[in-house]
Amino acid sequence: SSGGEAQIERTLAIIKPDGLFGNHTDAVKKIILESGFRILKEKIVQLDQESAASFYAEHSARSFFHSLVQYMTSGPVLVMVLERDDAVSGWRTLIGPTDAIKAKITHPQSIRAMCGTDAEKNCVHGSDSSQSAQREISFFFDSMPSGLQDIEHDEL
Ligand code: ADP
Ligand code: MG
Repeated sequence: SSGGEAQIERTLAIIKPDGLFGNHTDAVKKIILESGFRILKEKIVQLDQESAASFYAEHSARSFFHSLVQYMTSGPVLVMVLERDDAVSGWRTLIGPTDAIKAKITHPQSIRAMCGTDAEKNCVHGSDSSQSAQREISFFFDSMPSGLQDIEHDEL
């Protein structure tokens, strides 16, 4: 648009295995809804090694990649499509820095400070750009077989 007004956007949020296992789902969803997001779609998925590696392909050369794939396949994840003005940056701001140990110091109100553990086990994912969001939403909701539990919310 031309005027610099806020854009309705979609982003991909994931509650990672430590978040589900630690029973943080309700608290995270409460923050999502109280922050004005609509949850358009959600599903619970058990990633396999191939799909986790594909989702995080940009990190395949990093030293933590193997461990990241093990972590993301260690249990089910809850994947959600969120919609709001400035959803991508808004959700990234709410989740806080990647390293949950640092988040507890610098962003104590953030979701990763609340439910994450360290630089790897950080409880939640958020797309880092609108391009990433499109790729990631399509990854989970177009190309992947349906989840263990699929919910389509009304689009108004
Ligand atoms: P973010 O999830 O904040 O976008 P990245 O895209 O850089 O962070 O990394 C993807 C995921 O890889 C992180 O959320 C975290 O689970 C893991 N990770 C990132 N950096 C490290 C690290 N230094 N050591 C271990 N795991 C990491
Ligand atoms: Mg990232």
